[in-house]
Amino acid sequence: MPSIFTKIINGEIPCYKIAEDDHFFAFLDINPNVKGHTLCIPKKEIDKITDLDEETYLGLMGFSRKIAKAMEAAIDCKRVGITVIGLEVPHAHVHLIPLDQMKDATFQHKVSLKAQEFEAIAAQIRSKL
Ligand code: AMP
Repeated sequence: MPSIFTKIINGEIPCYKIAEDDHFFAFLDINPNVKGHTLCIPKKEIDKITDLDEETYLGLMGFSRKIAKAMEAAIDCKRVGITVIGLEVPHAHVHLIPLDQMKDATFQHKVSLKAQEFEAIAAQIRSKL
């Protein structure tokens, strides 16, 4: 059965899309640590990031860096943190999180956003790509 992220790539589940190319896809995390929290995924469905082939792994990191730079340009934050967890969704993904303080990176504090706020922040990030 396809992962929830494969369903997002295929347009079967909605998302707040940031960008995609032939191999990778970026969209906002639906339960963000902070506004702008973004996920980058390979279109190839592999559970653990350490199981990606070298080319896909390096491609994912390059794609993630491009998105992180757009986030840094779009969002007022000290920096964008890059984290891999993977305990919830078995489809490799990189978390990009705008950080001002350590608690922003802990996944213990979440913010609740309205649809319009998700749409607005996604548009801001896209405008810096
Ligand atoms: P983890 O696998 O522990 O790295 O966490 C998976 C992340 O995916 C969590 O931060 C979730 O909020 C996020 N997530 C799960 N389902 C969706 C979805 N449908 N759209 C966007 N983000 C999601």
